[in-house]
Amino acid sequence: MKDGLGREIDYLRISLTDKCNLRCGYCMPSDGIQHMDHSEVLSLEEMGRLVRIMTGLGIKRVRLTGGEPLVRRGVMDSIRMLKSEYGIGNISMTSNWIMLAEKYTGRYGGMDDIQSECSVAEGLKRAGLSDINISLDTLDPETCLRLTGLNGVDAVIKGIDAAVLAGLDVKLNCVPVKDINDREITELMDFAGERGLTVRFIELMPIGCGTRYKGVPTAELIAMIEMKYGKASRMEADPSEIKGPAVYYSFEGYRGRAGFISPLSHSFCEECCRVRLTCAGYLKLCLQYPDGADLKTPMRRGATDSELEDMIRSAIMKKPAAHSFGRMDADYDKRKMVEIGG
Ligand code: SAM
Ligand code: SF4
Repeated sequence: MKDGLGREIDYLRISLTDKCNLRCGYCMPSDGIQHMDHSEVLSLEEMGRLVRIMTGLGIKRVRLTGGEPLVRRGVMDSIRMLKSEYGIGNISMTSNWIMLAEKYTGRYGGMDDIQSECSVAEGLKRAGLSDINISLDTLDPETCLRLTGLNGVDAVIKGIDAAVLAGLDVKLNCVPVKDINDREITELMDFAGERGLTVRFIELMPIGCGTRYKGVPTAELIAMIEMKYGKASRMEADPSEIKGPAVYYSFEGYRGRAGFISPLSHSFCEECCRVRLTCAGYLKLCLQYPDGADLKTPMRRGATDSELEDMIRSAIMKKPAAHSFGRMDADYDKRKMVEIGG
């Protein structure tokens, strides 16, 4: 469906959980957050019902996120449900690297047809996942510990390799943070290039704990990369790829490309096609603002599909025109990124 400004909304990001096994400083406080009671989290059936209604309204793509989506029990069941019951053609996931290389076990669900003798990454592929964005901010053990609360560099590499081996379409996402990982930009590109992968650099957004750090604007990053690899050239969008907010550049001396997602320096709000469903059943219209619709309460009080559909429609009609990150007087969602679903 179209929103009030005529933008076609066809992309839904679903947060499966507000729990995470890492503590990335820009996303969640080092002592964690007050997690929602299990009973407040949407069940897979409730989530499925909302997705079914939303596919009727034109949602075609779903990305699973969180928190860490892989800590949600039954995550494979949710993928299979989205694929086979609701016909979602493209199901993707954003995940940290921690569990990807681990052995697949029953806690992920779908045990009967996935079988145990595979990695979690392979299980995801078999369940129907098509692509995965793996967050990779650093390859330095100390920085990793400082930024995420865990020195997991070996696990990162294993996780990425497991995802590639499983045949998932892998992209690496890095959030450059001033004076923390901003000296590793070309190193991360080298790491990606050696594996034939693309790394995308995301500007730090001033949401929740993100306000405690300073990000690096895209133009600065490009200038930094040019110092090592020579002149940058903006690439045409690849028609075989799903259109998204990343802009890709090649560099004279680099085989491959790097992507830049620049919500602050090059807002892409005019083309925004996404809405979010939090694990608490809240339909969120824009990452910055708290506006949206609580769908869980009416659903649990017995709302019919058509009543829920009306609520979703009228919320989407009010999707804000653009974010206003950086404006001190603007309205900000007070929740942390880990609670919203990044
Ligand atoms: N746990 C998973 C992961 O880290 O990939 C999925 C959830 S995480 C919230 C999704 C993405 O949001 C990650 O790539 C993370 O780096 C990014 N992120 C978190 N806080 C951010 C912020 N303040 N600004 C920009 N990106 C942020
Ligand atoms: Fe967890 Fe992802 Fe947030 Fe890091 S960015 S704390 S991995 S949810």
